Amino acid sequence: MDVTSSASTTITRITLQIFFGQCTIQSTSSPPHFRNIVTHFCFCIRHFDNLAPDADFDTLMTFISGILRLSTKYVIRYLRQRCIILFLTKLPSTFESYEAKARATSPSSTSPTPSKARDRYRSDTVMRAIKLAQENDIYEALPYAYYCVSRFPHKRLLKERPGDISWKDKAICLVGRERLHWAQMSMSYAFLLVFHRSPVCQNLLCAHARGPHAEWHLLENDRSPHPLREYDRWDSLNVCADCVAYCQARHLEGRKDVWKYLPTLFELPPWEELRGIQNTQGPLHCPNPNDGTAG
Ligand SMILES: [Zn+2]
Repeated sequence: MDVTSSASTTITRITLQIFFGQCTIQSTSSPPHFRNIVTHFCFCIRHFDNLAPDADFDTLMTFISGILRLSTKYVIRYLRQRCIILFLTKLPSTFESYEAKARATSPSSTSPTPSKARDRYRSDTVMRAIKLAQENDIYEALPYAYYCVSRFPHKRLLKERPGDISWKDKAICLVGRERLHWAQMSMSYAFLLVFHRSPVCQNLLCAHARGPHAEWHLLENDRSPHPLREYDRWDSLNVCADCVAYCQARHLEGRKDVWKYLPTLFELPPWEELRGIQNTQGPLHCPNPNDGTAG
C-alpha cells in the first residue's frame, strides 16, 4: 500500500520514507505536519493490530523499530508509548511483570512449548534489544536485558559478532554477573545458605536439617547465577511446614530486593530515575562513573 500526502504550508521541504511492514508512506511536509500524518496513518490502518499476540521477540522488534525511531525522533508520545509497552512485554520492568513472564515460560507452565522456546532469548536477540533500547531511550528495558546477557557463557561475550553491544557494556555485564552471585547469596537464596527456623517452629529437628545447605551447594554448581529464579524444591529442605512457609517468605522478599537493586548491579540509576529520564527522553547518566571502590 502506498500513501502519498503533501502539506500546503510546507516550510522545510523534507522527504521521508517509512516502512511499516508492507506499507510505505511518502511525505513532503514540515515536521509538525509530518507528525500528524504518521499518527493519523497509524490510527487509520490500525498498525498495531497487525502484530500477532504471540510474536517472538525478533519479530516484535522488526515490527516496532521503524515507528519507534520516528516517534522518538519527532516526539510523537502516544505512538512511542505504544511501542515501549510492546517492547517491555519481552523485557519486564517491574517485578510483577517479570513474575508473569517467568510463569508463562517456566517448565511447569501449561503454555504451549513453542511459546516457551521462543521466550528463551538468543544472545544476538538480547544484544539487538539493548542497542534498540539505547538508541531510543527505553532505559527501563536495560536492567533485565543486561541480566540476560550476564547469564550467557563467557565464551559468547568474548566473541565479536555484528550487532553486538559495546565492549564497555559487555564488561558491565561481566561485573554484573559477579554481583548476581553476591545477590543470590545475600538476598534471594540466603534462606538456604544461612537457614533460620520459623519463630513458630515446634520441631527441634529442623535446627539440624541438612537440606538447606545441601540445596545451596547444588545451586553453587550452576553455570551462571540466577538470583531472580523462584526456588521450587521445598520438599528437599526436610523441614517442617512452618519453616518452609518462613523460608518462602524470606525467599520472596529477597527476590524482590534483587529486582529493586537490579539496575544498580549493572551501573544504572534506580528504576524510578530510569523511568523519569525515559519519559522526558533525557540523557542517561550512570552513577559514580569514577568510583573505583564500588564492589
Ligand atoms: Zn521447623
